[in-house]
Formats: sequence, structure tokens, C-alpha cells
Amino acid sequence: MENIQTETIRLVEWLSQFGNDPDGGVSRLLYSKEWTAAQKALEQYMQEEGFTTYYDEIGNLYGRLEGSQHPDETIMSGSHVDTVRNGGKYDGQYGIIAALMAMRDLKRQYGQPLRTLEVVSFAEEEGSRFPYTFWGSKNLTGVAKKEDVLEIADFNGVPFTEAMAQAGFRFRDESAEPRPDIKAFVELHIEQGSVLEHEGLSVGVVHSIVGQRRFTIEIAGEANHAGTTPMGYRKDAVHAAGRMIQQILDRAQAYGDPLVTTVGKLEVKPNVVNVVPGKALFTLDIRHTDKEELIRFTGEVTELMQHTARTSGVELKIDMWMDEDPVPMNNRILDVLERQCREHNIPFKLMHSGAGHDSQIMAKFVPTAMLFVPSRKGISHNPEEYTSPEHLADGVQALTHALYELAYQA
Ligand SMILES: [Zn+2]
Repeated sequence: MENIQTETIRLVEWLSQFGNDPDGGVSRLLYSKEWTAAQKALEQYMQEEGFTTYYDEIGNLYGRLEGSQHPDETIMSGSHVDTVRNGGKYDGQYGIIAALMAMRDLKRQYGQPLRTLEVVSFAEEEGSRFPYTFWGSKNLTGVAKKEDVLEIADFNGVPFTEAMAQAGFRFRDESAEPRPDIKAFVELHIEQGSVLEHEGLSVGVVHSIVGQRRFTIEIAGEANHAGTTPMGYRKDAVHAAGRMIQQILDRAQAYGDPLVTTVGKLEVKPNVVNVVPGKALFTLDIRHTDKEELIRFTGEVTELMQHTARTSGVELKIDMWMDEDPVPMNNRILDVLERQCREHNIPFKLMHSGAGHDSQIMAKFVPTAMLFVPSRKGISHNPEEYTSPEHLADGVQALTHALYELAYQA
């Protein structure tokens, strides 16, 4: 156990050199030179450990251990190599390192697998350089389209296509069918929440990834003089927005887990001390693991807002600009993960993911499930991101046992 802990940490530190920020943390943006260096380093490590390596057209990196009996059935594990700006050392890359360690150790102990084992280092997941997320897994599954990124550029104005070409990659052939050989995908990732820490558990077996709906709410009242307009004559956009926000959040609290609702952005116009505000804008982020519940709750809050707008005499505009369904994980893979945790006395719980992951893209095409390890204080996307060596090792162990069952058992 001790050496899995120290080795995981050593490899996490090693990979963190590529894009390490002077004050701690990692910045490894898609197709940057830090990104290229990390993929090259992983490629070399895989080769040294006896994996056959290759990139796909867009720059996902794979390391393969060919199966002896079913070479055309691939059991895949891995995560994304890119990070947010000044992110932590675990988000994404821990899942790649853990998959590498697990497959390498299985090969050392049991030799060639019956089914092919493949580790993937996805090119991109975070959307932190370009306004596009899941570029890696969306290409592997054939979802990403060339036209999605033709017009986009990074914060320095570098077009996506130019950055990709400079890194040595190109668009995939969209007429080609996605790979038929992948029979299972297991992603190990940090929780980025504090549920496991609160419950004192090492591992989360993720049964579903939440669906999300995001809205921008615009309220138009009437801007007026703050001194000469009596309260009864006002169409105060902030008063209406404040009432709506209070009602929505109270309703969300009463609704209970796993529903979460956030008003994260608030703007007022003209945003001046002595003017009754004529306009207010706020955002809503609503998530739930059950599609029907998500629809029901959004319906309820829409009615609340419409009622409040009518009684406040303001105009209301509700714009839903994101509507993603919850993604359930595969029951057969979940059974494997649960059974292996139970058999090896790894303390775990079944839970949902409140954040998005490559697994939600993979799950639509391939039997998929996820494992989580705890994040201290739930902190992520931040240099303070931390998972204890014991938990990191428990995650690697759980993944190793699961991959053994999937790739070595008849
Ligand atoms: Zn991640």
C-alpha cells in the first residue's frame, strides 16, 4: 500500500511539471507547449512500460496492451490532460496516472490481458482555452464537428484551427464510423465536492451525472429618480429580481437533494446609487440527476417568476441557453465497481456527480461508469486542490480490481 501511495504522488508531481505555475498550480491549455510536453512525457512513459502508443487525429493519446483472446474488445480508462488556468494537480491527470499504474501493475502481475486494455489521455475537457468543452471525448465518440470550432479563437485571438495545426494535429475524418471496439470505459476522477470527505469514505461509485439547465433572466422595470418617485409608483427591477431570487432559492432548499440551484451572476442597470433601477439580470444554474424532476422544478420556478413579474409590474424575459439531460452510468460496470470495492474492503458509497465529465459523453456510446476520490474541502480548479495519499491509493486500487475483472476474467 505504501508504495502505491508514494508512487501516485511521485507521478502526479512529475506530470505537474508540465505547465506548473510559479506560485503553485498547473496551467495546461489545449495545444499549448505545456500541453504538448505533457502528452509527449506520457507517451514516453507508456512506451517504457510496454504500452503501444498512438494519437488520434486531434491529439487524444492512447496506450494499448493488446488482449490475447479478444483483441477487438477494448476496456478503456483515463481522463483529460488539460487543466483550467491555474488549476490543481489532480483534476484530470490523476485519472490518467491511475489508469496507467493500474494497467501496468496488472500486466506485471498477470501478464497479457484477455481483452485489450487501453489508457486514454484526452486532449481537452475543460473549455479553458477555447469556448468548447469535451473536445477529446467528443471526437472519440464522433460527436464533435469541424464547424463547431472553425470560428472560435482563444483570448489572444489565436484561432482554434491554427493552434491545432501548430501542435501537429488535424480534424478527424467525419465520414469514418466511431470505434466499435470499446466495450467499457471507467474514469477515475477527484470528486470536486465534499461529500466523501464529510462521510469519511475513500471512494465514490458514480451512478449518474447531473443534468443541467442554465438561464439568463432579464427584468425590465422603469428607471426613475430615487428621491421624487414614491414607492407606490415604482417599477423597481431590483425589487422584483430580489423577490424572485428569494423565492427560487427557498423553493430549491425545500425541494432537497440532489437538486441544486445557483444564482451566480447579478447585474443592475443603471447601477447608480440614486436611480431606481430600470433593469436587472440574473443567471440560474439548476441541476438534478433525474430529468423529470429537473423539468418539474424549472417549471415551478418559471411560474414563480411569472407571477412575481405580474404583481410587480415588470417585464420578464427567461432565456434557457443550456439544457443537458442527466446521464446515468451503466449498471453492469457499476456492479463491477461496487463488487470490487466491497471485496477489497475499500469504503465507498454510491453517489452522483454534480459536475460534468468526459464520462457523460462516453456513456452515450459505451458502457461507462466513474469512480471518485475525496477532494479536501471540496476545493477544485484551484492550486489548493488536494487528495490525501491514502485516498489516491484507494482509488488506484479500486480501479485496478475493476480493470482486472473487466479485462482478465472470461
Ligand atoms: Zn476534470
